[in-house]
Amino acid sequence: MSETAPRIVITGGQVVSGENVFEADILVEGEKIAGVFTPGTAGTADRTVDAQGCYVFPGIVDAHTHIMLDTGIYRTVDNWEIGTRAAAFGGVTTVIDFANQIKGQPFAAALKARQQEAVDAVIDYAFHMVVLEPEYETDALRASLTRLMGLGVTSIKLFTTYRPNYYVDDSTILRIFRAMPPGMIAMVHCENDSIVTDATERLVAQGKTDWAYHAQSRPADAEAEAVSRVMYLASLAQARVYVVHCSTAMAVSEVNRVRSRDGHWDQVFCETCPQYILLHDMVYSEEHPEHFILQPPLRSYHHTESLKHYVANGHIDVLSTDSCDYSLEQKLAHRDFTKTPGGLPGVETLLPLMYTTFHEKVPLPRLIQMLSENPARLFGLYPRKGAILPGSDADLVIYDPQPRSVIHHENLHYLAGYSPYEGMQVHGKVRTVLSRGEVVVDGDSFLGKAGRGQFVRGSASLAPRRP
Ligand SMILES: [Zn+2]
Repeated sequence: MSETAPRIVITGGQVVSGENVFEADILVEGEKIAGVFTPGTAGTADRTVDAQGCYVFPGIVDAHTHIMLDTGIYRTVDNWEIGTRAAAFGGVTTVIDFANQIKGQPFAAALKARQQEAVDAVIDYAFHMVVLEPEYETDALRASLTRLMGLGVTSIKLFTTYRPNYYVDDSTILRIFRAMPPGMIAMVHCENDSIVTDATERLVAQGKTDWAYHAQSRPADAEAEAVSRVMYLASLAQARVYVVHCSTAMAVSEVNRVRSRDGHWDQVFCETCPQYILLHDMVYSEEHPEHFILQPPLRSYHHTESLKHYVANGHIDVLSTDSCDYSLEQKLAHRDFTKTPGGLPGVETLLPLMYTTFHEKVPLPRLIQMLSENPARLFGLYPRKGAILPGSDADLVIYDPQPRSVIHHENLHYLAGYSPYEGMQVHGKVRTVLSRGEVVVDGDSFLGKAGRGQFVRGSASLAPRRP
């Protein structure tokens, strides 16, 4: 580190790492954490940030965002500057988003196209690659996946649903699992496409296309069946697999059944999201069902309560958002669940909602594992991200646990025009956010510049921490 790099000391806070909670001063030099010191011993600095009465968390890593998502019919209304600024206000300092392989496109071209869209990001970002057209021959496929890892993308995304656009069949999934080089991880969206198609077609035939019927079109069993099947395929291929957005109790128990049965603790993983813990399917018979169109849909209390329990008991590895900034105008365009864009905004509310829900149920280091360290480890960004260690990027969140506030979409920084969590009370507030040593959020002010965010190259996937 050069002599001239600015030195910032964050003093007086309770530092929360994925390991423990302790009083310490953190010295930041330039973009990196230079050291973690006994209070009062970090030496002189150009600037002191007072964290008295606050927690200091490593920057949150949201492993599942969809900024400027273009489905071909709808495009979310954010752009990379707006989407990442909203993230930063929520204490998220890294988003892992998706690059889509258009059919016939090499991975390098798909990644480059998405990197060009992201140039205005205000915080750092990485990508998962959505694989749509894998090479048929296993060696050629392995070679292209190995090249993808060389480009800094160590995770791929596969879909068991959304025929004909994203769907890949079981033999293709198995072939990809077998071809994945060591250190690569596959994320899978698990819903049985035949069950979903059958349920949807029966509703459409009866004229039941109002938003109220959305959840019935994607039954819980569709998720459970697909998770179970994908777990068998993962076991057969000995592949490293991560089930995204688990919305049902069965999905999580299926992942955990496989890992305890086969001892695959370091092979299969699962994520859930705030919406599946905090929101229930009764919203579909209330005033604004269109706000809650997403795939998988919201579920009953049985599932939400089970998911809360699974988070508290260490059965879930990562909490992330699947955030999609669709506007109210887009949500309201057709009073028909088959035509309404699916996805909820949420990146900005991830940390406050999960802190509020779990700070009395889960030790804070465990919460930070699920929100920061584990996504960084699984997607090859650790210890540059997800850690408060000398040499880590100085991505830090100062969180004041005292204030109570109520979520109102007017106070949030994305464009959807609503929040699925409107009216919920949250404990605590993100006070200051540093991204690579720069204070980008200070209270209600945003100080970061468009384009300061960087693409972060992923390396081999590491096992997450478990309680
Ligand atoms: Zn998603």
